[in-house]
Amino acid sequence: MPPSVRPAFESVLRRNPGDFEFHQAVHEVLASIIPVLEENPRYLDEAILERLVEPERQIIFRVPWVDDNGRIHVNRGYRVQFSSVLGPYKGGLRFHPSVNSSIIKFLGFEQIFKNALTAQGIGGAKGGSDFDPHGRSDAEIMRFCQAFMNELYRHLGEHTDVPAGDIGVGAREVGYLFGQYRKITNRHESGMFTGKGTGWGGAEVRTEATGYGTVYFVQEMLAVRGESIEGRRVLVSGSGNVAIYAIEKAAQLGALPITASDSSGYVVDEAGIDVELLKQVKEEERLRVASYAERRPSARFVPGRRVWEVPAEIALPCATQNEVNGRDAARLIANGVVAVAEGANMPSLPEAVDAFQAAGVLFAPGKAANAGGVATSALEMSQNAARQRWNFADSEHKLHAIMRSMHTEAYQAAERYGHPGNYVVGANCAAFVKVADAMIAQGVI
Ligand code: NDP
Repeated sequence: MPPSVRPAFESVLRRNPGDFEFHQAVHEVLASIIPVLEENPRYLDEAILERLVEPERQIIFRVPWVDDNGRIHVNRGYRVQFSSVLGPYKGGLRFHPSVNSSIIKFLGFEQIFKNALTAQGIGGAKGGSDFDPHGRSDAEIMRFCQAFMNELYRHLGEHTDVPAGDIGVGAREVGYLFGQYRKITNRHESGMFTGKGTGWGGAEVRTEATGYGTVYFVQEMLAVRGESIEGRRVLVSGSGNVAIYAIEKAAQLGALPITASDSSGYVVDEAGIDVELLKQVKEEERLRVASYAERRPSARFVPGRRVWEVPAEIALPCATQNEVNGRDAARLIANGVVAVAEGANMPSLPEAVDAFQAAGVLFAPGKAANAGGVATSALEMSQNAARQRWNFADSEHKLHAIMRSMHTEAYQAAERYGHPGNYVVGANCAAFVKVADAMIAQGVI
């Protein structure tokens, strides 16, 4: 770690012992913005780094709820409001047993830069709980969401903090969370949550936006090299919201997505994933991904392994953090991968990113590649504020334009700061400058 950024990084280690995912996310950003700091030492003089790595506010709370058998459970709820310098706090809620303060801090920190790149005037936050929705009835999910909102509501609002979904929080959970907020506050405040149902204030394309946007970003990276996505074999990990719509868009653009996965293993379908069947299995019936292979003769289920061992030219990790390690990267490279784009947040370990970049593989970090979701959330906020509703085609057109513009910005920043083709440096530098300039303009607060 270069001396100019060491004090800020050391403060993160000291104040957040054991928060390894948070350390990893901060390390990546600090290590890649050195050219910006060398060009403009005022960012160091103004202690921008020390201020940025400390969240503006962190909320941790008890979530007691009652299951269908009358048993009481206690989960822990989190909301880390990292930065509101560019707009109201904005970032999803994650319900997964692995959630802890490190996970929420890393996601909130990433969100600051991702949201800055979208240029939609939104700050960075993240929240969630260590609640495991798997195997819970609808009534249990509803009671948990209500209990979670019983505390969180006081920290939210359309001009304060606007959550959305993430792992384990989809349309059903957003409905219950929004409903409880409305009940407690006596306000139908559409703009306080995004990812709502399209019948009650939700934006068209929000469901599809993260997956679609990731594939658009791949298209842009390939276009720079005069190449196209058409006819390419695509690996997708995960089978949730991001994965399903990455698969759908890749197929629409003429590529051949051949995998999907969950925590039990992966399916490979050499005929190309049947996205309608996948939606039926995962979105409607809420089954494990193995059920897809049971119903599709061209597919097989591989238990307990990761998709990265399957030969393909494009890889889209869309499940969770740190799901691509150095060995996975070496395998992908040996099998001829040409582009990797992160649909998930921080799915690649640093050793994997280094390997991709050293091998000349196009690599898009999540904060750029998966920003289509939050960008469309910002479009949802605009529509709510103006009491308007844009149709699917218009909304998708806007998403596509935002993805193109984020690609251009990251690409140009990488060139400008002396690392051509390095989208990690490009995205971090471009986003950091926006956040840091706003912090200087708004004073020490
Ligand atoms: P979903 O809950 O819809 O799907 C998550 C998928 O990833 C599931 O298939 C799940 O399998 C798998 N998964 C989750 N945790 C693990 C784990 N620890 N090990 C193995 N597999 C796992 O979530 P999303 O699709 O919304 O989110 C996926 C990723 O995309 C996350 O990193 C999220 O932060 C990121 N993201 C999401 C956005 C959105 O708009 N939804 C926006 C930007 C980023 P299983 O059911 O077995 O757990």
